[in-house]
Amino acid sequence: SAKRHGRNHDQRFRPSLDVAGDRQLALVNDLRAALASGGQLELHYQTQHRLDSGELVGMEALLRWRHPQHGMISPGDFIPLAERHGMMSALGNWVVERAAAQLANWRLAGMPAVPVWVNISAIQLIQGDLESRLAACLSQHQLPASMLGLELTESVLLDERAGDIYPRMAALRALGHQIAIDDFGTGYSSLSYLKRLPVDKLKLDRAFVSALPDDPADASIVSAVLAMARGLDLEVIAEGVETEAQRQFLLQHGCPLVQGFLFSRPLPAAEVEAHQLGEPQSA
Ligand code: C2E
Ligand code: MG
Ligand code: MG
Ligand code: MG
Repeated sequence: SAKRHGRNHDQRFRPSLDVAGDRQLALVNDLRAALASGGQLELHYQTQHRLDSGELVGMEALLRWRHPQHGMISPGDFIPLAERHGMMSALGNWVVERAAAQLANWRLAGMPAVPVWVNISAIQLIQGDLESRLAACLSQHQLPASMLGLELTESVLLDERAGDIYPRMAALRALGHQIAIDDFGTGYSSLSYLKRLPVDKLKLDRAFVSALPDDPADASIVSAVLAMARGLDLEVIAEGVETEAQRQFLLQHGCPLVQGFLFSRPLPAAEVEAHQLGEPQSA
C-alpha cells in the first residue's frame, strides 16, 4: 500500500525479493523480541573529558544489541532497521529510561555526578511526546534535567517531519537539558542556523579529527570551527580522538572537550563504575 511504501523510504530494501532481505526480516523480528524483553539490549558509556585537565565532564550512552546468535550488533547496523520498521521510537524510549535508571544507580554508588548524554533520533521528536517521556523518567528517578543531555544530529534538525523544532529545543533547555549537535560538519545545513540555534555544544565529527594533524584541509576546518564556536559561545567536543598527535593539535587550537578511544572506549556500566571508583582520577 501507499502508506507502507511511504514508510520504507529506502527503496533498495525489499525483503521478499532476496535472501539478504529474508535475513534482514529475521533480524527485524529478533529486534522486536529483544525490545519486548529488554534483555539483549545494553547501554555502553564513553567518557568525555576537559582537554587541558583531563577532568571527567560527561558520558555518552551508546546502544548495544547482544544478539543470542550473531553476537554484538553495532547500532550503525540495527538502528536504520529499527527506523524503517517503526521500532525506533520504542528503542529511543528504552534508552532514555535505561540512562535515567543508570544515573540514579550511579548517584547511589557515589559516582562523579556528570551528565549522561543520549542520542535522540528524529522520530522521537516527530512523535512529540519526548518532553513528557523525559520528565517522567527524571521524576521517577528524582534526577534534575541537567543530568540528561540530548544529542541531535544536523540531519534531525533538518528533518522537516519534525516541524519547527527550535521552540521545542528552547523549551527543553529551559527545563534544564543541555543540547549538543552531533556529527557537526557532516550535514548540509547552512552555517547561519548556528546563530539562532538553541544549543550548548557542537560535537565535531570524527571525520575531521581522524586525519589530524597532517591533513592541511582538515586542520584548517577544525581550527576554523573552534574559532567560530568560541565567537558564538558554543562549547566544542571533538569526537573520535585516538592519538596523542590529535590530542596535541586540539589542545594547541583551544578545543575545550574531547571524547575518543585515547581516553576510553564505550564500556558497560559496571566497567565505567569500577574505573571511576577504583582509580584516582587523572588526565
Ligand atoms: P555517535 O553518536 O556519533 O557516537 C559516536 C560513535 O563513535 C560511537 O559508535 C563510538 O563508539 C564511536 N567512537 C567513539 N570514539 C571513537 C574513536 O576514538 N575512534 C573511533 N573509530 N570510533 C569512536 P557506535 O557506538 O557504534 O554508535 C554509532 C552511532 O549510532 C552513533 O554515533 C549514533 O549516531 C548511533 N547511536 C548509538 N546509540 C544510539 C541511541 O541510543 N539512539 C540513537 N538514536 N542513535 C544511537
Ligand atoms: Mg552521539
Ligand atoms: Mg557523533
Ligand atoms: Mg557519528
